[in-house]
Amino acid sequence: MTPGQRAEARIAELGIRDPKDLDVEAIAFDAGVSVRYAPLIGCEATLVGLGSRAIATIRESPVRGRERFSIGHELAHWELHRGKSFRCGVDEPTLNLESNVALEREADEFSSHLLMPRLLFNPIVREYRWPTIAQIHEVAEIFQCSQSATLIRLAKVDTLPVIVACYSLEKRLWYCAAPHVPRRWRLKAKLDADSFAHELLTRATSTLVPRKQSADAWFENDDADEYELLEQCVPGMPGKVLVTLYLSESEMFDVGYDPDVGWRAR
Ligand SMILES: [Zn+2]
Repeated sequence: MTPGQRAEARIAELGIRDPKDLDVEAIAFDAGVSVRYAPLIGCEATLVGLGSRAIATIRESPVRGRERFSIGHELAHWELHRGKSFRCGVDEPTLNLESNVALEREADEFSSHLLMPRLLFNPIVREYRWPTIAQIHEVAEIFQCSQSATLIRLAKVDTLPVIVACYSLEKRLWYCAAPHVPRRWRLKAKLDADSFAHELLTRATSTLVPRKQSADAWFENDDADEYELLEQCVPGMPGKVLVTLYLSESEMFDVGYDPDVGWRAR
């Protein structure tokens, strides 16, 4: 079983059928992990195990979604990597997307599946055609998760042709594409001046609902200008923009391999 499958199996074992019942502290306690909060310095969370019990210490945050994600993350270390102690640097899955630390990524995967299990998440998302920023915010509230954690989950559940990405003016920081999005489409490594996201960072104008945009603004492929997609974006951390791209034209799925761009595994 993958870490995500293990987390979802736990939710099924506990008989949780409503997002309101996703009490991550109770789930952790049931697995032997007591949660404490403290003003940690230099890390977001720690896990110390002793016998069959462990203590997860979580840095207090005004954003409950971040605390919850950290609890799920430490529970994952307990479930998957028992026998080690952890000091974890992030309370958001996005930063680990920029790194290659396998255990941290596994813990993030476990946590996002635990907090947004497919069986509860998909029916809620399915109600929206192309979720707007406000609707994503609603979903994030239902699951008490951060906006970026919710966006990444939206891509990973693979029900919509979506790419989620974060950029600064200098470069792309991370991105996550729904697995069924064709790999021929190569996302630009730098923000294009024609993108709404670029406008947001240079002129502070958010695009909070999906708006039509030339695919050329986002993909390196020579034929990208023949297609349109839907783009929306919100400010992320200072100096960063969070982008959602919906590949709304089915033609972008029908077109074949692009020899000029090449194929690179994600
Ligand atoms: Zn960790």
